[in-house]
Amino acid sequence: MNVPTSIRVGRIFGVPVQINLSILFVAAFVVWTVAFQILPAVYEDSGTRDRLAAAIASSLLFFISILAHEVGHAVVARRHDVETESITLWFLGGVAKLLRQAPTPRAEFQIAAAGPAASFIMALIFAGATWLTNRFTGWELMPVVLAWLAAINLLLAVSNMFPAAPLDGGRVLTAGLWKRLGDAELARLLSARCGMILGGAMTIAGSIAIMFGRYGFGWLSIVVMGLFLLFSARSEVIGAAVRGRLNHIPVAALMTRYPTPQPGSLSVAHYLSATASNPNVATPLTHWGHEPVAYALPNRLSGMDPFAQSVTTIGSIAIPADVVPRAWSTEPLGRVTERLAQLQPTIVVVHDPTTGAEIGTISSEQFGQALVVPDYWGRLAELVRLPEDDPRGPLVPGSGRR
Ligand SMILES: [Zn+2]
Repeated sequence: MNVPTSIRVGRIFGVPVQINLSILFVAAFVVWTVAFQILPAVYEDSGTRDRLAAAIASSLLFFISILAHEVGHAVVARRHDVETESITLWFLGGVAKLLRQAPTPRAEFQIAAAGPAASFIMALIFAGATWLTNRFTGWELMPVVLAWLAAINLLLAVSNMFPAAPLDGGRVLTAGLWKRLGDAELARLLSARCGMILGGAMTIAGSIAIMFGRYGFGWLSIVVMGLFLLFSARSEVIGAAVRGRLNHIPVAALMTRYPTPQPGSLSVAHYLSATASNPNVATPLTHWGHEPVAYALPNRLSGMDPFAQSVTTIGSIAIPADVVPRAWSTEPLGRVTERLAQLQPTIVVVHDPTTGAEIGTISSEQFGQALVVPDYWGRLAELVRLPEDDPRGPLVPGSGRR
């Protein structure tokens, strides 16, 4: 989840903490609720100044509570080698943005459960503080504020445990499904669908309540949270569907087998006319008909100046064979994408894992064919299951060897 327009306020455990200006509304709402709703209900004769002071303190402690929840996620994520890019406090609470997906079901579970666990501990701390201030001080307002904070933290812990991603309970569900089904992305997709259902239900229920004349802030915020949950769950469904698809499609499904080699001595203009029927297919370039010495992708050259095209040989601007990245034909596209992410290659040469021989090429354009957008529920046609991963491991990029 990305929260736009946030201001960096500092670091906690090395993780940058930012706040979104929308929390000013939340702060104002908390101050108003505590100062003019909760405290007067308990102590009618308390002074406005005292109530405002207590309310501002509770607003600060409220944000510290949300921060504690997110720090819980970040600290446990680090124990599983998953770094946190940032923690953002905003209108709908906090977001800890992790730099990568959890590596195992166990890590997924522990990272997810850490947030509600932190909130639960905060609830216990505030409950203890309520008892202590009530018992040992003469303060009237403070125990009320502390009891309210204990309740809020308990609410944070419980409401996040709905089994619907991106809520924490949804990640716990993901961990369970992942362990059972053995497929991380399928598990993520299913719990994000639960998120869409919960978000949709909240939106509809809140809207109906408002239509029937219940204008309370509570119902409006349920509609807002429902919509937010619906759309963020939907983007998780798409992400999981695309990653899942890439994990199940082998390179062989999209590569071109034995593309016709072209002589490296051709001019770019001649090369482009010779390959005009397949501009998205990367072709090997040969020197006197021997092994490929370089590779070129026609559609990356069509923008070249016509005069330059006629005086430049294709061999002189192509990608040399010893630096072009390699992949096995059985390797899933998802793994190749991950492995070659830094290189952002336009051409990958494909080898047969049993013979080691070069059997084809795949271009970035052909790769893109796998990235079709799934339908609303993230269903995808023709998911190809691989027999198993190549036991010999990936090729060393650029060397053509393992
Ligand atoms: Zn959380």
